[in-house]
Amino acid sequence: MPFPNPQPPTPSPHLTILYRGPLASCNYSCVYCPFAKRHETRAEHIADGLALDRFVDWANRWKGGPLSVFFTPWGEALIRQRYQQAIIALSHMPHIRRVAIQTNLSCRLDWIARCDNRSLALWTTYHPEQVSRAAFLRKCDALVQAGVRFSVGVVGLKEHFEEIEALRRELPATVYLWVNACKHSPDYYTPDDLARLECIDPLFTYNTRYYPSRGKACRCGHSVIAVDGQGNIRRCHFIDRILGNIYEPGFEVKLVPTACSRDTCHCHIGYVHMNDLGLYDIFGDGVLERIPNLPGGLKPPGR
Ligand code: SF4
Ligand code: SF4
Repeated sequence: MPFPNPQPPTPSPHLTILYRGPLASCNYSCVYCPFAKRHETRAEHIADGLALDRFVDWANRWKGGPLSVFFTPWGEALIRQRYQQAIIALSHMPHIRRVAIQTNLSCRLDWIARCDNRSLALWTTYHPEQVSRAAFLRKCDALVQAGVRFSVGVVGLKEHFEEIEALRRELPATVYLWVNACKHSPDYYTPDDLARLECIDPLFTYNTRYYPSRGKACRCGHSVIAVDGQGNIRRCHFIDRILGNIYEPGFEVKLVPTACSRDTCHCHIGYVHMNDLGLYDIFGDGVLERIPNLPGGLKPPGR
């Protein structure tokens, strides 16, 4: 739905791509996750690799201005050498402003030394039932030593509150620990629970909400797009309509400011791009990897 009185298409001066190829597998077995311990065939791995190579080659040849790439795989990609190589390559491209990826951080980290840290960032997640806190913290320490930008996240399950608090105590104060809200039921958290989690993540309340989004302005579809392994463009991961294809010349003219067509938006990788929420002001350069400009008197939003 374009806005009334649409302006002539104006390419965004900076394009962000949320890339999700065919990969759909993980080495962890979180009970709530459809990709837990899922394995792929050799043919599926080859197809994922070809799609990734094509995308990296396209990114390298992109002449449309600064580009940021955020890998949001279904499952865990960084245990695959092809994703490590892709990130190394992208990080060195002069027009790439940021290359980031969501990861459970279970991979080896020696490849990181070959990246350009000025553009690299990681969105890491800690899964207390899959890895010990000590082992996860060792990986975080390696990232700190290597000078890599990263955030750490957990799901705010009640049975993990003490573990989350322990993680916060043991992480360096400079590392942002975000908590994703468990949205099983609207009253899952008591007021005391909310206060407890806000002590860990001052932005936690933002993640507890379903934001009415239909008809609202969102950068997705204009300066932020989701791209799949075939190059198909969707405005975000939550709206299935295909807008075009990055491998077809002139796709940029289809990227115009439009209003959201969904009733609500509740996932950080979506709502962070909604204009009204002002989260670009809070996250600044760290929008993709979820690193806010903390602390500076940051207050949780009113409930
Ligand atoms: S680490 Fe992430 S992708 Fe893997 S099983 Fe757990 S939730 Fe799913
Ligand atoms: S508000 Fe959410 S669902 Fe709507 S376009 Fe933006 S990211 Fe997509």
